[in-house]
Amino acid sequence: PETFTYTFDTPIYKGKTSFSTGLYIDGKWVDGSKKTTIDVINPTNGKIITKISQATSEDVDLAVVAAQKAFDTVWGLNTPGTKRGALLNKLGDLMQEHFDELAALEALDNGKTFGWAQDVDVTDSIATIKYYAGWADKIQGKTIETTQHKLTYTRHEPIGVVGQIIPWNFPLMMMAWKLGPALATGNCIVLKPSEFTPLTAIRMSELIHQAGFPPGVVNILAGYGGTAGAAIAEHPHIDKVAFTGSTLVGRKIMEASARTNLKNVTLELGGKSPNIIFDDADIDQAVKFTSHGIFWNHGQACCAGSRIFVHAKVYDEFLVKFTEKAKSLKIGDPFGIGTYQGPQVSQIQFDRIMGYIDSGKEQGATVHLGGERHGEEGYFIKPTIFTDVKPDMKIVQEEIFGPVGVVIKFDNDEDVLRQANDTMYGLAAAVFSKNIDRALQVAHKLKAGTAWVNCINQLHPQVPFGGFKQSGIGRELGEYALENYTAVKAVHVNFSLNVE
Ligand code: NAD
Repeated sequence: PETFTYTFDTPIYKGKTSFSTGLYIDGKWVDGSKKTTIDVINPTNGKIITKISQATSEDVDLAVVAAQKAFDTVWGLNTPGTKRGALLNKLGDLMQEHFDELAALEALDNGKTFGWAQDVDVTDSIATIKYYAGWADKIQGKTIETTQHKLTYTRHEPIGVVGQIIPWNFPLMMMAWKLGPALATGNCIVLKPSEFTPLTAIRMSELIHQAGFPPGVVNILAGYGGTAGAAIAEHPHIDKVAFTGSTLVGRKIMEASARTNLKNVTLELGGKSPNIIFDDADIDQAVKFTSHGIFWNHGQACCAGSRIFVHAKVYDEFLVKFTEKAKSLKIGDPFGIGTYQGPQVSQIQFDRIMGYIDSGKEQGATVHLGGERHGEEGYFIKPTIFTDVKPDMKIVQEEIFGPVGVVIKFDNDEDVLRQANDTMYGLAAAVFSKNIDRALQVAHKLKAGTAWVNCINQLHPQVPFGGFKQSGIGRELGEYALENYTAVKAVHVNFSLNVE
C-alpha cells in the first residue's frame, strides 16, 4: 500500500505524519483485494487529502479468519487479563506520545477544531483506553448457592470475533469506546471506520501494532457501509456486532443479524434531545450550555440538545443572550487561532442540513439567526436558530445533525415534559433549574439514557452512555459496556455420588 505523508504548517500546530494507507489485517498492512481506493476529502476546502485502501467483503472474510485464529491461539482465554490490561495501557501511552498528531489528523479529516480534538477527542480516547485497561483483570463471575452437593459458578467469557462499525463525527473517540471494553474482555476485533473519516483509525492501527497486540487481535478495514459494513453485519462467523451511527442503518444491522446467524447486536443511534430551561434557571449558565449543546462539533453530536424549550417568563431574556452567544462563535479554519466551529464533515451532510433549513423556512418557521452557508469554499454553515416552530415540522421531529436549533416557548411543566418525550428518540436530555426538586423530578421523568441537570454534553469513561427507545440498544462506557462483550457461562460441579 501507498504511504501517506503530510506536513502540518499552521499557526497553532506544526508537525508531520506518515503512515501506510492499507487495510490492517492479521498484523500486516495490505491493499484491498480489489485494489480499489477511497478518496479522503478535506472538508475545509473540498480537496482530496489522500487515497486509502478500500475493503470489500473478501477482505472482511480474511480479517475474520485472522481474528478467529488469534482468538483461538493467542487471545481470548489464552491471555490473562493482566496482560491484556498492560497492552491497553501501552496503547494509551503511545496515544499520549502522539497526542498532537492524532488531534491534527482528526481536525484535518473531520473538520473539527484542533483545540477541541485535543481537549475532547484525544483526551477522552486515551482516558477510555486506560479506564478499560484497569478492568481487564477484574472480569469476574459469581459463585451461586444451589445444593450442598454442588459448586455452581459463572464465568464471563469473551464472545469471540466482534465486528465494530463506527461513524464520522467522533472518529477516534468512537473507536476508543469500542476497542477498550472489547479488548479488556478478550475479544478479537474487525473494525470499520467511516469512509468519510478513516485517517485516525488507520494511524491507530500502527500504534496498536507497536503496543504489541498479537496479529489478528485487532483488524482495521476502511470501506463503504454498503459493502464492507454490510459484510460485517451479515458475516456468519462474526459473533457480535457493535454499531454506532444512524437509526436507519442500525435497523439494517439488526435485520442482517436476524437474517444470518442471530449475532448479538448493540446499537448507539441518533437523537433529537430536549433541553428544558425553566424560569428559575441561571440564565447565563443555561445559555452557555445550550450553545455548547447544539453548536459544539458543528451540531454533529448524537446527543445534541437540538430542541430547546424555554419557559415563557424567561423566553425573551434567554433568546437575546443565546443569540448573542451564537453570534460570537468564530467560524473558520479548524487550525485557525480561536476558531470554535469548523466545516461540516462532507458535501452530503452540508446538503442535508441546508435541506432541513429550507424545509423549516417552507413550513413557516422563522429563521431567527443564520440559516445560510459561511464563506465560499468548504462545508461551513452559520449557527442557526429557528423560532415560531410547530411540533409536526421536520426541523422539530428529525435529527438534523448540524448547527441548527429550534427554540420553543412553554409555560406548563407537565406539558413541556410531554413535548420533550414526544419523539422516537431517547438518547439524552437536559434540564436547567435552580430548584433541585423540580429539576430532579423532571430529569427522572424524561425518557432518555442520559439526563443532564444544569449542564450538557458531560461524558466520562466510567459513566454509561446509550439510548432509550429508537436511540439504541445496550450501553457503552463504564462497567456496563463490559456486558456487551461477555457471554455468561454457568458451570455446575457435582461433588457427591448422591445427586441425580
Ligand atoms: P451512518 O449510519 O450513515 O454510518 C455509520 C457507519 O455505518 C459508517 O461506518 C458507515 O459506513 C456504516 N454503514 C452505512 N451503511 C451500512 C450498512 N448498510 N451496513 C453496515 N454498515 C453501514 O451514520 P453516520 O452518518 O456516519 O453518523 C451519524 C449518525 O450517527 C447520527 O445519526 C448520530 O446520531 C449517530 N451517532 C450516535 C452516537 C451514539 O452514541 N448514540 C454517537 C455518534 C453518532
